[in-house]
Amino acid sequence: MKLLFEKSVEGCALSILPELDVPEYRLSEGALRLKAPKLPQLSETDIDRHYSELERRAFGVNNGFYPLGSCTMKYNPRVNEAIAALPGFTQVHPLQPSDTVSGCLEVLKLAGGELCEITGMDAMTFQPAAGAHGELTGVMLIKKYHEARGDFSRDKIIVPDSAHGTNPATAAMCGMKVINVPSGADGCVDLGRLRAVLGPDTAGLMLTNPNTVGIFDRNILEITNLVHEAGGLNYYDGANLNAIMGVVRPGDMGFDCVHLNLHKTFSTPHGGGGPGAGAVGCKGFLAPYLPNGYGEDRPESIGRVKAFYGNFLVVVRALAYLLMLGREGVTLAAQMAVLNANYMKKRLAECYAVSHEGICMHEFVVTLEREAKERHVTAMDVAKALLDKGIHPPTMYFPLIVHEALMIEPTETESKETLDLACEAFLEVYRDCMAAETPSQHPLTTVIRRPDEVRAARESKLIYKF
Ligand SMILES: *Cc1c(COP(=O)(O)O)cnc(C)c1O
Repeated sequence: MKLLFEKSVEGCALSILPELDVPEYRLSEGALRLKAPKLPQLSETDIDRHYSELERRAFGVNNGFYPLGSCTMKYNPRVNEAIAALPGFTQVHPLQPSDTVSGCLEVLKLAGGELCEITGMDAMTFQPAAGAHGELTGVMLIKKYHEARGDFSRDKIIVPDSAHGTNPATAAMCGMKVINVPSGADGCVDLGRLRAVLGPDTAGLMLTNPNTVGIFDRNILEITNLVHEAGGLNYYDGANLNAIMGVVRPGDMGFDCVHLNLHKTFSTPHGGGGPGAGAVGCKGFLAPYLPNGYGEDRPESIGRVKAFYGNFLVVVRALAYLLMLGREGVTLAAQMAVLNANYMKKRLAECYAVSHEGICMHEFVVTLEREAKERHVTAMDVAKALLDKGIHPPTMYFPLIVHEALMIEPTETESKETLDLACEAFLEVYRDCMAAETPSQHPLTTVIRRPDEVRAARESKLIYKF
């Protein structure tokens, strides 16, 4: 597919700009460009076709089933988009006097209150722009807490081996040493190994529960207690709250601080690179260290982590979503997410080996370790063949503790009919791959088939040379 620059034809510009309705202003000579910018020149038809073609090449939740584990690719109700598009929310400027935006401030307050209730926290900031950014903010709070008490010896963050990669990365970015604790055969934190690494140098623990193999760690109270007894704090990675919202609360599990991905659980479309929001909630004793929002002045604050109020419209969508679902609806959504995952897990077990038996939460992991050894059929082969069935592949080769992993998260917004069709596709792909005499050639129907992914990432071409 050609770039707009390559399709450009000299003189083929659009001239449909509206009439100037403000006084004309001339920049000073020094600020003027010497040469006109090299913008592509195309007709409206060609621009329209270009972007429609790009859209056809993308795959989103509105194109088909998208069970990308840990990413919660659920349907985001359109009504929340409509609400976030209201002029009262979009036609405001962050530097406006606060008494002219009291409605917007009310949205932040209400959303903070709802999410505090859901997480069992006392205070919330919406400044962080994404999950990883929220983690950074949270670990900065933990660090600040220890320092404020004159305890400078706590420089270690404990992270289970099933953690999302952003957890160790966050701890390292905060200047902490990352201590890995292995999971037991049941997928839960190994308590003995946890005890062994706790000590006066423990700053805290970062944990996601249910974890990335979809298991709720039933020792959670003992885990968070052990960390507290050692003088550390507990950080809850709540990027995916889909299994527990309205059912159990991180605050009741012994966590001191959490982040939520509003763009996963709370109705902001994601996958295209943003904007998102990694709201951070904390218990009252950490609140004095929260980032100062606009007009706030906490003397002990860790400082700003983003300009103004964060990605405000993401918060509007989250609030609209929560108010629409209500207390019962939030709980029901979580229960349906868990039910859908268990239904699929059970059906896929007809062919696929699941990583951990028993009831899962919002997601589960299957492994093709045996098939890879015996038949050279890999998780990659299954994922690529699913593309030809119009299904977005599950998360692949993650979590690292399961070999040849496919991590499947159907979400609550899929009907039983869709789940049945998807299950049949998964089973058919399995049987086809296993029966094939030659290595799999899938996908056969996509524009790009099996790219060299490492090279595509390392040598990506992002600059157009005229
Ligand atoms: C998605 C995710 C993150 C990171 O969130 P971003 O918004 O992509 O930075 C962190 N932890 C878990 C468990 C996740 O699933």
